[in-house]
Amino acid sequence: MSSFKSRRDMFHIPEGITYLDGNSLGPMPKAAEERARSAIAEEWGPMLITGWNKAGWMNLPARLGDRIGRLIGAPEGSTVVGDTLSIKVYQAVASALELRPGRKIVLSDNGNFPSDLYMADGLLKSLGQGHELKVVDPEAVAANITDQVAAVMLTQVDYRTGRVHDMKAITEKTHDAGAIMIWDLAHSAGALPVDLAACKADIAVGCTYKYLNGGPGAPAFIYVRPDLVDQVRPALSGWLGHAAPFAFDLDYRPGDGISRMRVGTPPVLQMAVLDTALDAFDDVEMTDIRKQSIRLSEQFISEVEASCKDVELASPRDPEARGSQVSFRFHEGYAAMQALIARGVIGDFRAPDIMRFGFCPLYNTEEDVSRAAGALAEIIATGEWDKPEFRARKAVT
Ligand SMILES: *Cc1c(COP(=O)(O)O)cnc(C)c1O
Repeated sequence: MSSFKSRRDMFHIPEGITYLDGNSLGPMPKAAEERARSAIAEEWGPMLITGWNKAGWMNLPARLGDRIGRLIGAPEGSTVVGDTLSIKVYQAVASALELRPGRKIVLSDNGNFPSDLYMADGLLKSLGQGHELKVVDPEAVAANITDQVAAVMLTQVDYRTGRVHDMKAITEKTHDAGAIMIWDLAHSAGALPVDLAACKADIAVGCTYKYLNGGPGAPAFIYVRPDLVDQVRPALSGWLGHAAPFAFDLDYRPGDGISRMRVGTPPVLQMAVLDTALDAFDDVEMTDIRKQSIRLSEQFISEVEASCKDVELASPRDPEARGSQVSFRFHEGYAAMQALIARGVIGDFRAPDIMRFGFCPLYNTEEDVSRAAGALAEIIATGEWDKPEFRARKAVT
């Protein structure tokens, strides 16, 4: 029996649905509805522009940053929320390059999420200084950290397979080579314990609509190591990262600490919802979430493998080497996932052949796992997936 039963009641899981896609978009916390309403009807409506002060809108990016910081081992005042993750990746890489002038390589791996690679590549091209984005196999990262590397940019948990990088070891290796370490925590924050301070990561970024349940379009976060942040020149030097935004100086001066990584006006309504969503993590230890997540994912693997011979585990078998998701390969994985969704079991598909299932102990139970494994086995045994409507690709997979 999960020890998070009471947390499940905090979420709206539609009747008949088994939701195993919180790694892509977390479900709606029930309180989000009322919070969205009150932010509109009790703040924006009556307060108008005075809400920036009266309702504390201007401070939301810092306050939410601290709430997330608690989940990722970041000290108070070192994390700020805003923009989207792609933007935060750009800021991170730009800052890292300036901290290591003369070095020309940004090192990443081919298990990274494409947007991170696209953003880095786009930035390097704009700079036009001969930088190179070097993309290697995940297993080859350590061997490629040389004194030519300005920054190592990795996503800790592979979005397709759930493979986990050893944050501490790679960060150490990166520092030994004199480079800057950037971690993307998109599939880590709220999913497993992260200790940014202990592993001395230089910069970390992540999003809040996956395991943190902030809702579609919820903003991202960025962390910079406190002893480094005052050396960081923000490449996206927007007015709200200025030391004194309301002085309206013509020249840019970065704000103190992490506030300089703010850019422009925060999405207040979305942040209000995120604030409420984070309540689900109050008084919860990430180590307990991790324990239960491993139990659920081990159960899923053993039930699927016992009942379904035609799928192949695409995730590491060692639970410690895996994030909070399990992936199986199936040659018609897209169609099989559509057939599962038609039965009310929601996971997702990642090209070319990966069916992905996320496990979130805050709301997933052992019954969810059994239902999903049973449905998958039946769909594959009976060929239920082999229908035109399941094969037809939708825009969002
Ligand atoms: C989900 C995800 C993104 C998405 O970026 P957005 O700008 O929020 O759309 C980027 N990087 C990684 C590693 C992700 O997992």
